[in-house]
Order: sequence, then C-alpha cells, then structure tokens
Amino acid sequence: MIEVKTREEIELMRESALIVSKTLGMLAKEVKPGITTLRLDALAEQFIRDHGAIPGFLGLYDFPNTLCMSPNAQVVHGIPNDKPLEEGDIISIDCGAIKNDFYGDHAYTFEVGEVAPAVKRLLEVTKESLYIGIREFKLGNRVGDVGYAIQQHCEKHGHGVVRELVGHGLGKKMHEDPEMPNYGKRGRGKKFVEGMVVAIEPMINMGTHRIKQLRDGWTILTADLKPSAHFEHDVALLDGRPELLSTFQYIYEALGIVSDEEDEFRRQPLIVE
Ligand code: MG
Ligand code: MG
Repeated sequence: MIEVKTREEIELMRESALIVSKTLGMLAKEVKPGITTLRLDALAEQFIRDHGAIPGFLGLYDFPNTLCMSPNAQVVHGIPNDKPLEEGDIISIDCGAIKNDFYGDHAYTFEVGEVAPAVKRLLEVTKESLYIGIREFKLGNRVGDVGYAIQQHCEKHGHGVVRELVGHGLGKKMHEDPEMPNYGKRGRGKKFVEGMVVAIEPMINMGTHRIKQLRDGWTILTADLKPSAHFEHDVALLDGRPELLSTFQYIYEALGIVSDEEDEFRRQPLIVE
C-alpha cells in the first residue's frame, strides 16, 4: 500500500533528506586518495548525530555501518573497511538519516582523483538517467514510465541496468511501496498519486547488468567486475509534479561545480548555507 504524505510530513522529510545532502557534501571534501572508507564512515556518523539525527542504515537489517561504501565494481551495499582509496577509483556512497521519525536516503558516486574518461562517462550517463527518470514521476504516469526512461537512456549508451535492486517509496520506513525499478515498460505498474515520496536510484553498470554478491552477505558487485555507478534522490509528488527533497548542491559547492540540473524540480531556490 502506498503511504501518501501530508505537506507537513513532506517538509519534515525535506529536513531528513537535507541532513543526508549535507553529510554527502561534507564527505565530498574528504574523498581523496589515501583515506579509508571506515574513516569516512566515522566522519559521517558523527556529522549526522551532530545534526540531531540518527544514522539510518546502522543496524537496519543488521547493516554494520552508517554508510554503504561501494568502490569500482561494487554496485551497492559495500561495507566500509580500512583499505585506502586510490587515485582513479570511483566510490559510490549511499547514506541514510532519520529525523522526526522520517528517513532521508540518497547516494552519489564520487571520483577519487583523476578517473578514466570511460568511467567518467558512466557517471555522467547514470546521473543524467536519474533526472530523466525523475521527470517521469508526475501525476498521470506509472512506475513503469520512470523505469522505462532510465533504462532507455542507459542502454542507449551501452550500459547495463541492474534488475535485482530497485528504488522505493520512502517515509517512516526506509523501504515503502512502491518498488521503483530502473527498467520497465511505459504505462505499466502502480499509478503515481499526489503526496507520494520515493527514492529514485539508478544502479548502472559499465558492462553487463548481471551482478553477484560477496560472501559477507551484503556487497553487490558486477558479474564482469567492470565499474558501476549509483545516484539517488528523494522526490515528492507535489501539485502533480516531481519536487526534489534532497540536493547534490552541497557536494557541488565542495567540489567547485556549478550546475542547474536540479532547478526544474524545485519551486523555490535552494539556499546552500
Ligand atoms: Mg540509498
Ligand atoms: Mg534507497
């Protein structure tokens, strides 16, 4: 059953989402060759608690850490460890936080130093597909419209769309209805309704869409060990249109990137303090 949210609840969810956005912005300054994912995890946990929130992943389904840290061929659900990041790596960081009982949940794939052009392109295409998908999250559309749009864009560029892991409704539970696959058919699946909040999160592989899981019971990696990218936003359906609750602007601020990619999904300008 889809749990629709009131305007007041959506404003609370925006708070939760922004705590995650700020956490990723803080991490953007720290992601560089030599730092370990465990160190980044400790920084994120402290940052979230300092902002009056609770790490959303820690202990959820028994996950051991605050961040899912998935470098290179890891798709999602990687566990932080003491291996330093290296020049040319990519690292997908997925972060959750709970504030006022509501979850924020979003993810960004960072470049560590200078990354190979083909890998850079994978990140660009995956992030483009996120916004192409978000654009379809509007009244009158269905779950399949979002998945179709994401899949078309990524496959056009020769990339594989992971099937086994999907986006989801978001609220007082981390995973609510509906499931939001990154593949699908136009006009199929559940109908979008006013007040829905979803996490849209393409997980896109450079090569095959097939995945495997490590013996740790968590880490998902590509079957061909080629790189994988993951970008995730929290989005509300308000006045029939998608509105972003999360933002990458704190990351861009940290990295000196100027981007207007989120403008069409926001009714008022975001002030990054
Ligand atoms: Mg996530
Ligand atoms: Mg998610």
